Amino acid sequence: METRDKLRLALTIIISSFLALSIPILFSRKFFKTQKQRKICYLNTESKAQSTFKRILAENSYFQFKHLKLQTQSNEEYSNLHPYKGEISKLLKNPDIGFLEFLDGFDDGGEKWNCEMSDPLVWTETKSQLEELAEVLSKERVFAVDTEQHSLRSFLGFTALIQISTKRQDYLVDTIALHDVMGILRPVFAHPGICKVFHGADNDVLWLQRDFHIYVVNLFDTAKACDVLSKPQRSLAYLLETYCDVATNKLLQREDWRQRPLPEEMVKYARSDAHYLLYIAYCLSMELKQRKNGISGSENLSPCDKFHFLFEASRRSNATCLQLFQKDIEAYLGESTALSIISRCLNDQGGIPSSLCDLKFQELVRRFCAWRDIMARIHDESLRFVLSERAIIALAAKRPTTELDICSTISEADPDVELMTLFPLQSPSSVVSCHLEDLHYLFQAEIGAVDDVLQMFIQQHLGPDGSCPLSAYNYALLTQTGLKQTIRATSNQNGFKAAKQLAKKASRELFVQKFSCKSPVYHNFKIYANDGRLLCHCDRKKLEWYLNRNLAKLVEDDPPAIMLCFEPKGRPEDEDNDFYIQSKKNICVSCGEGNHYLRYRIIPSCYRMHFPEHLKSHRSHDIVLLCVDCHEIAHAAAEKYKKQIAAEFDIPLFIRKVVDLNQVHNASASTPTIISEEAGVSPLQLRTAAMALLRHGTRMPCKRREELMQVVMKYYGGREISDEDLERALLVGMSPHERRKFEKKRGLAFKNSLKSMNLNGERENNICGKATTSIQNDLNGTAAGHLYVNAGETDQKEGYLDILMGDDTGVNTRPLFSNGKVNSAVSADEGNDIADIKEFPDIKTSSTSNHDDICESESPSNETTNPLDDRDISLNRESKLSLLGHGPHGKQVVEHLLKEYGEEGICQFCQRWRQVFVEALHPRFLPGGWDVNHSGKRDFGEFSVYKPGKNIRAIAI
Ligand code: AMP
Ligand code: MN
Ligand code: ZN
Repeated sequence: METRDKLRLALTIIISSFLALSIPILFSRKFFKTQKQRKICYLNTESKAQSTFKRILAENSYFQFKHLKLQTQSNEEYSNLHPYKGEISKLLKNPDIGFLEFLDGFDDGGEKWNCEMSDPLVWTETKSQLEELAEVLSKERVFAVDTEQHSLRSFLGFTALIQISTKRQDYLVDTIALHDVMGILRPVFAHPGICKVFHGADNDVLWLQRDFHIYVVNLFDTAKACDVLSKPQRSLAYLLETYCDVATNKLLQREDWRQRPLPEEMVKYARSDAHYLLYIAYCLSMELKQRKNGISGSENLSPCDKFHFLFEASRRSNATCLQLFQKDIEAYLGESTALSIISRCLNDQGGIPSSLCDLKFQELVRRFCAWRDIMARIHDESLRFVLSERAIIALAAKRPTTELDICSTISEADPDVELMTLFPLQSPSSVVSCHLEDLHYLFQAEIGAVDDVLQMFIQQHLGPDGSCPLSAYNYALLTQTGLKQTIRATSNQNGFKAAKQLAKKASRELFVQKFSCKSPVYHNFKIYANDGRLLCHCDRKKLEWYLNRNLAKLVEDDPPAIMLCFEPKGRPEDEDNDFYIQSKKNICVSCGEGNHYLRYRIIPSCYRMHFPEHLKSHRSHDIVLLCVDCHEIAHAAAEKYKKQIAAEFDIPLFIRKVVDLNQVHNASASTPTIISEEAGVSPLQLRTAAMALLRHGTRMPCKRREELMQVVMKYYGGREISDEDLERALLVGMSPHERRKFEKKRGLAFKNSLKSMNLNGERENNICGKATTSIQNDLNGTAAGHLYVNAGETDQKEGYLDILMGDDTGVNTRPLFSNGKVNSAVSADEGNDIADIKEFPDIKTSSTSNHDDICESESPSNETTNPLDDRDISLNRESKLSLLGHGPHGKQVVEHLLKEYGEEGICQFCQRWRQVFVEALHPRFLPGGWDVNHSGKRDFGEFSVYKPGKNIRAIAI
């Protein structure tokens, strides 16, 4: 309230002073001059539906959305969380199915309910009418709701209409006329004793929060009921046809719902979206109830199972209500779109040759995306309305020099825009036409940081002499100083500290450069089901995979979106959460950093690679983006937890000891085996010792040299060793992939020495120790002929930082930036190879999107292109397993879990890892629906690459 009054006051002062000043200025020459340079913003003459709104909850600044503060909450108690979390949690525990009794009359006399929408509907557009409606609804036990949105001419979108149906009456609420007083309906929506029936409420629930602080408590979602019943389809159109014999034209949902009066056809459509819902809910509930009677063996069901299906549908519905509306906030405005455009162009998919996608092009794309973002916020328009992505690409590629050229470049880039949407769209848009000088300015080479330029635009447009009208939507942009400025201000420390920080920063930046993703991970192209429901997001490759197989058709162009031609078996809602339909931001899920990020695997690969194939399909949920700093924290926590697991299951993290098999008996060369406690050596220790001797052996103190020699000799059964033996020791325990990489680095000379080494191997067979063939046979199955000694903890540590440091003479556990020195080992050497293959995310594969495995048919592109991928390893698990990492430990742990607890054990194991992750970072930007308890199970559809028994490579691109 208070801030609103302040805002109003500020606006009044600004407007009145503008009027007062404008009269004398009108006659000054200065005015005419600026007039010529700058056209008057179109908003001065155009009025939009939302400009009549006074209470605006979600404005266009990048301050986070504030949720409802209940009157019962003190300022201290208010935490911007869900105000009705408690009520909803109660419903999750005790689902409300009492509302069904009130729908009973629907099947009187076995006759179908009279479906006709014959009675007049109630058009609600005044406050008193709304109060009357609230009164009516407060006496109902259940009512149905649907909403219609407008999104083209608004930055965040707004609710243009709410349809409410009771058993007796249909109401259409004009939420444009009543925008500021919609809170009148808040109590009935939040009342846990009144059930609200929606179809597919996921978005509606958020929209109602965003516009009116209306929170739905006690929801029955007919789409969720369809899921629980495994209906062949879950669209409202399907339900209307099946249960009510009504055909609908879903195209109307994209119409302009701001129109008043609403055309008759749209009124009818809107009404029908809510009118039949109570009847449909009734029918579906009956089916859900019958499930317990109908299925064979139901006599044995406990009373608890009696309402199992109905409860389940209710629970899934109310889980939706726990979602919270949030604004998308990026560190650099428009950055994620810019990155997506750039990566498409680099892959020759932007409609321009990738040769044009030089640094200048990329910089321009960034500027235009940022400009488009800020202009959309200032004018309260959608991004698409301001400037299309095609137009951004064309501008950055052609670099027109005059304002006229800029206009024609844009309009040429936007052919038949009107076909794509039902709205008449201008190209260039009025925003562009009125602010052409901005675009012209953006082409200049020597402008500063985008951040500063945006700040300048905000001042130019909204400042005291601004060109564009201030509004409740854009006012807060003025009060928001650059995000980066605060960081700059605090980093100005005293000399020594600053130098230290600088060094730390340099080392960190090197790391970022080397390992962060080089293009956005998520492209966020939409995939719709055949009924128009959003299924999930995907990358370009997957999109094309569907299109090339005629499994989908292109329904939107800019950015591209496809609609599947088949009914997907699994819907996001089947998962009991809506994780998969979220678009994902290219930011660190923990702190929100958007400038660099790398993939982080929440379930460490050493375990995951051994999971049964079908439990691996949830990669997208368990691979998240983290910035370097958060990555380090998460990794450290995971390593710590691995040790705990090792202790808990009594399965050591590392292979304790290996010995050259040639020293045991006459077997093939260079196959290490593990013997007893006394003999042998840990493979990692062996490798580091051999590496140190080869590199620094001659310069090393005698004592150290002797120690290291002993380590290597232990592997060779105590005999004298040659330089060739040392070289051979470097390869011990490596997987073929590690070997290949290693050999490549060492070059031809090394290959030659390998050949002679094999010959030597056959000649030498000084048998040593107690190892016997029978031990070997026993354990042979575990890992490609290597034998484990399952004894205690080793002192070997495998650190995240080994990636940078290399393993020189000892085992490296130095933290990355601890002493402010840039570690000299940063210039990578052979040692890096190992670390690369261990826990580190597949940072080198750019622009693969991992977050959409929900879809029925899946492009396996991600799986086949990346040599380090889990699947790749697991296909050939036995021979490829490295003894140097945690692979053998992971394998044993997973085998143990499967044996003892089955797949449930794996699911719980995954939950533990998610918990570790959450506790280590307390991530604030996890995608909505992300859940520690995410189920690892799912069905396989006909097209799924995860379908058991299907040859993965056969359908690979
Ligand atoms: P519905 O739940 O079908 O009543 O849709 C509610 C609102 O969602 C509509 O008013 C549209 O603004 C928006 N909407 C739903 N589906 C689509 C779609 N496929 N394309 C564009 N807008 C959609
Ligand atoms: Mn609707
Ligand atoms: Zn303007």
